[in-house]
Amino acid sequence: MSIVRSCCGARTRAGTPCRTKPIPGRRRCRWHGGRSTGPKTPEGRAKAALNLPRIRAARGAAEVG
Ligand SMILES: [Zn+2]
Repeated sequence: MSIVRSCCGARTRAGTPCRTKPIPGRRRCRWHGGRSTGPKTPEGRAKAALNLPRIRAARGAAEVG
């Protein structure tokens, strides 16, 4: 998928896609982790991994596969 995103696209609390422009070179806007460089420490990676199932569950099975 090489679609150029013109907006963040992250789901907001309202359930609508975020329309904020992403940070250049990143996929998300500054509100949705665009400024984050990702987990750097083992602790941070572990925390992120713990959050994954919750995030996937929240998004629902409709988007899986
Ligand atoms: Zn966003």
